[in-house]
Amino acid sequence: MNEIGAKREFLGIIKSIRAYIEAEKACGIDEMITPEGSRLKVKKPRQISKAEMLLAIKSEVFNCKRCGLYRSRRNVVFGDGDPHAKLLFVGEAPGFEEDLQGLPFVGQAGKLLTKMIEAIGLSRDSVYICNVLKCRPPGNRSPLPEEMSACKEYLLRQIEIISPKVVCCLGKYAAHALLETDEPITKIRGNDYNYKGAFLIPTFHPAYLLRNPDSKKHVWEDLKKIKRLISEV
Ligand code: URA
Ligand code: SF4
Repeated sequence: MNEIGAKREFLGIIKSIRAYIEAEKACGIDEMITPEGSRLKVKKPRQISKAEMLLAIKSEVFNCKRCGLYRSRRNVVFGDGDPHAKLLFVGEAPGFEEDLQGLPFVGQAGKLLTKMIEAIGLSRDSVYICNVLKCRPPGNRSPLPEEMSACKEYLLRQIEIISPKVVCCLGKYAAHALLETDEPITKIRGNDYNYKGAFLIPTFHPAYLLRNPDSKKHVWEDLKKIKRLISEV
């Protein structure tokens, strides 16, 4: 065998050993005995955390041009909160303040959402908050169907990673996106649904509550149900 052939064979052997060790690690074997009888520690593959997985999607969304809203956004509003949250809120889309700060629900509706969260004994940073759309529609107009379908995949991936016990849809756009229906929110609300094993509770959007305070009593019922669901083991 010439020198090149020997080098190739050597590299081939190294490759096979590497594949063998990877396979052993995947089976949970973390120690090997060398031909000389000494023990060799094999490093366990590191688990990727939920926070890291979310960060990976976040960096995709920051460069997203899947719909026309990228042209007018000041900031992408990816979502915020505890990656391990049991409760996830899904709103509609960023508004003026959210676009400015790059954070969800930081305007007037956000203040009410914070009160709703605190009313059931939780803090904002113990839950996760995001929207169907990650970029602000100009002038806070309603999301268009094509924007919802372009952006929805990010939301679905966020929910899959966080895997909360309860998903609370704030308003019709979030409920429509996840339940794939176009029934009015007045008809959808008051029931609970199963979303991939999680409880999906649709309720009124806090911005709607600011205009229709009489509906707060219904939202309070929904919040009490959410509290019960997340406290159950
Ligand atoms: N309304 C929403 O639906 N989402 C926000 O982030 C703010 C207001
Ligand atoms: Fe992309 Fe969603 Fe922003 Fe549209 S709204 S550009 S799909 S991140």
